[in-house]
Amino acid sequence: MKGVNIRFIEAGHSSQLEAMAVQGGAWRSIRFPGTVAVIRHPKEGVLLFDTGYTPRYYEETREFPNKIYRLTVPVEITEEQTASHQLRKMGIATTDVSKIILSHFHADHVAGCRDFEQSKFIYAKEAYTAVKDLGPIASVKHAFLKGLLPDDFERLSSTLSPENFLDAKTGYPEFETGCDLLGDGSVVAVELPGHTCGQIGLMVKTETQGDFFLVADACWQAESFEKDIPSHPVTRLVHANYKRYRETLSKIHRLFLHTSHTSGHTSANSPALRIVPCHCEKTCAGLPRG
Ligand SMILES: [Zn+2]
Repeated sequence: MKGVNIRFIEAGHSSQLEAMAVQGGAWRSIRFPGTVAVIRHPKEGVLLFDTGYTPRYYEETREFPNKIYRLTVPVEITEEQTASHQLRKMGIATTDVSKIILSHFHADHVAGCRDFEQSKFIYAKEAYTAVKDLGPIASVKHAFLKGLLPDDFERLSSTLSPENFLDAKTGYPEFETGCDLLGDGSVVAVELPGHTCGQIGLMVKTETQGDFFLVADACWQAESFEKDIPSHPVTRLVHANYKRYRETLSKIHRLFLHTSHTSGHTSANSPALRIVPCHCEKTCAGLPRG
């Protein structure tokens, strides 16, 4: 799409065992980058897909029960690594960000939201409904830290209902329809249920960089969608609906096979459609940076 381009920044990272991220992986610690997509659009200005970590994560997890989250998910983030700071270095003020699309409400995707209180937040209604009224313990179990969201978050929001995801064709099999967020087909939200209730991804059509499919946490490593291998069985506790998580992963795998086949490329960085899991360091290392 004319005038549309995409860059990626890493707003902090956590550490996980590779064997947990993908079945058959090594029992070694790997980096899970908190990837934020920065989309420039000629009429809409700058859009973000997710917000990564901020040091606010530390503040919100200082005391029990939220501290349980911090103890199970070690995170490294400095003020200089936040999305807002890195955007400023790219010449983008936080007020230039018109819309922020949130894939889901796990803390590593929403921790930067308070830095963008002049933006419109877009997400699936059911994703927020599933967590917004949870009590303290249940919130931690769902990796949801409400204090990371702006006080008037709902007023700043524009939510998507299931019927909204039927209005536009993506041009790709397996995920044939989605919600055309800007009205020109350049940024289309699609449903990726399973990891959480109401998780969404984005299809982005750029002018010169090809098409991107940002799949958030539908899988954690490229190997998962390349070979249709899920995360370790223990992580069934993390995924809200394991059956739907598997269905979504298999759909991404079939899409990957289709686009690899039609383009003649067999790597995850196929120029026909680049599939981007938020936390895959291997994938993120090959992406255009901010
Ligand atoms: Zn998640």
